[in-house]
Amino acid sequence: MTKKALITGLTGQDGSYLAELLLEKGYQIYGLVRRSSTSNLERISHLFNQIQIVSGDLLDQSSLMDVVNDCQPDEIYNLASQSYVPLSWKQPALTAEYTALGVSRLLESIRRCKPDAKFYQASSSEVFGQPDESPQTERTAFRPRNPYGVAKAYAHWMTVNYRQQYKLFGCCGITYTHESPRRGTEFVFRKITRTAAMIKLGLANELKLGNLDARRDWCYAKDAVCAMWMMLQQEKPDDYIIASGETHSVRELVECAFNCLGLDWQDYVSVDPAFYRPDEPVQLVGCIYKIKAQLGWKPQYSFQQLVELMVDRDLKELSDNP
Ligand code: NAP
Repeated sequence: MTKKALITGLTGQDGSYLAELLLEKGYQIYGLVRRSSTSNLERISHLFNQIQIVSGDLLDQSSLMDVVNDCQPDEIYNLASQSYVPLSWKQPALTAEYTALGVSRLLESIRRCKPDAKFYQASSSEVFGQPDESPQTERTAFRPRNPYGVAKAYAHWMTVNYRQQYKLFGCCGITYTHESPRRGTEFVFRKITRTAAMIKLGLANELKLGNLDARRDWCYAKDAVCAMWMMLQQEKPDDYIIASGETHSVRELVECAFNCLGLDWQDYVSVDPAFYRPDEPVQLVGCIYKIKAQLGWKPQYSFQQLVELMVDRDLKELSDNP
């Protein structure tokens, strides 16, 4: 029988890749989209005739109940959230509404309308904040250091609580930073690949960055969504770290991106303290032992391959449409 999946955050980076993966696997897909006065559908425009768009908002309980009730999905992937850490300092209450309470509303809708649905919650490495161990595992204590991390920690523990209390099949994927050509340009990885491509084409002449020594655990969004799907194919619900398991500095990323274009990064990059993060995390790097051992998942793309892929795509996009 055809499986049905509901994806929230369909219009975002991960939602669009997950939809492609589930279509390949023969799912019927419902994508939750909130109303917007301007179109935000460009990441999924190529999938329109294969997906049923349903209207709903994480802020609105009744819309979520209606959607879960009407679609009766076998699997629900909650990828929607206010996902930008700096904005969470400017809009802490709204971040909590979307990213924390939105998950409560969704869990409650599942409990009431489709309690046997399998549920994936997009947790985040930001729940670790300033961790007291590195690499982090599924047992590392949560010490979030920004409103986004606090909201994600709440959502994570609500999912675990609904699993324990109501026996819902709820899983949290603690994802570390993952990137793709569909990533917003406000995120440092895409900012670098995009601006390097612009410089190559003469559309920009400098790139301003914050701390070049900041290190991140980056992987490819396509790899990450594959892990999400694998988590929901298990007999028992559980939580997993989804990461590359290695870190690279912003400096390495810049060097690699400019090298791909035959440019010397030092001619173009300057450091601007305005871009420093006030809450630079210690060493966020995920231990992927559990997901490798239990699900057989590991990233298919290396750091170098990811940078090359994104630089190529940005260069092509900008050349076609400067
Ligand atoms: P993204 O590109 O920012 O997409 C966020 C999605 O959430 C968009 O589709 C957005 O819809 C939707 N959304 C926001 N508020 C909503 C609301 N009130 N009701 C319904 N939908 C709403 O995020 P992403 O990079 O795909 O990340 C997916 C999930 O993983 C997020 O929960 C994020 O916090 C988490 N995560 C991501 C990373 C990463 O590196 N990408 C790392 C750790 C965790 P609109 O188009 O209408 O704005």
